[in-house]
Amino acid sequence: MNRDSSPPPPAADRVDPKSVPVKILDSGARMPAIGLGTFGSDHAHGETVAQAVLDAAAVGYRHFDCASVYGNERLIGEALRSVRESGVSRDQLWVTSKLWNDRHGEQDVRRSCEQSLADLGLDYLDLYLIHWPFPNYHPPGCDVTARQPDARPYIHDAYMKTWRQMERLVYECLVRHIGTSNMTIPKLELVLRDARIRPACNEMELHPHFQQPELFRYVVDRGIVPIGYSPIGSPGRPDRDRTPDDTVDVEDPVIVAIARRLGVHPAVVCVMWAVRRGQVPIPFSVRRANYLANLRGAVDDRLTDSDMAAIAAVDRNCRLIKGQVFLWKDGQSWEDLWDVDGEITPP
Ligand code: NDP
Repeated sequence: MNRDSSPPPPAADRVDPKSVPVKILDSGARMPAIGLGTFGSDHAHGETVAQAVLDAAAVGYRHFDCASVYGNERLIGEALRSVRESGVSRDQLWVTSKLWNDRHGEQDVRRSCEQSLADLGLDYLDLYLIHWPFPNYHPPGCDVTARQPDARPYIHDAYMKTWRQMERLVYECLVRHIGTSNMTIPKLELVLRDARIRPACNEMELHPHFQQPELFRYVVDRGIVPIGYSPIGSPGRPDRDRTPDDTVDVEDPVIVAIARRLGVHPAVVCVMWAVRRGQVPIPFSVRRANYLANLRGAVDDRLTDSDMAAIAAVDRNCRLIKGQVFLWKDGQSWEDLWDVDGEITPP
């Protein structure tokens, strides 16, 4: 983790982007160590998320986590155009997008990337991820019990065909880095064995109640930057993504006590913990006070070593984004998606 040497800005209502920590990727690229999530789910319309992107850039964000399936890249593209017109150059921005599950076909990867580029108004992406390791598709907003009839488990040969097309995007300079998302160690082992261009990043669910220590360590040890999604425990996720066993990070007594001591919302403690641990959190928010507080938390880390140890101990192994809708017909449980027994379910 590196920081630019500029002092923090005097203005109370924004953060100097130069003071935001960065992660140095294997390529030497500098990724801001916090990004703004842009998945509005059911409650934030595209216009609201795009406005948040524009305003978040004004308060100091330079990293935006997008995806074609979020359905708002065109509106975010307009916001990014305004950001650039305000004097922020392209190379100061970090923009990620993701290939959706129904675009894994060899002919579809480039087309999908070009569509995201056109929508976002960019001529390259900093990072392009394969959103899920399965081509299994579901209609937006469907019930968790929905199953696509031809959904199937992970097939490595098929994934590598998609990955080869991702590699071509790098060779053709449409994207600077490629990466994975929602992966497991057994799947990454195969990808790392066969990739010509290794994943630069792996986007994965990471918050205090779901720390994924083994996968976290695995990717870090291999020079892959972990990007942490739902870093606050996704308190605004729709009811269909909730189960009775889910726990709530921002109500955890350890996190609440640290937040009280520091005078911040527990969400900000989750962000501070994430940045200090070494993942790149991408908290979603459309409220200025909240996304500004999160950015400040990334810069002004006041957690003590004993806070870090206390938060390490609150892990509940509580996965929130279970991915039920991607399960195939004979899949027994959503846990089959995540290779919990160390084995990839055979097709
Ligand atoms: P988060 O953990 O980021 O939680 C977002 C919620 O927290 C919002 O309801 C927001 O409300 C609230 N919040 C944010 N900051 C604060 C604060 N300081 N104080 C109080 N409340 C706060 O969950 P997400 O699931 O949205 O994940 C973040 C991003 O990760 C997504 O937007 C998306 O970009 C990415 N993602 C990627 C996935 C993948 O498969 N690769 C899967 C899921 C997410 P408010 O707007 O009111 O502030």
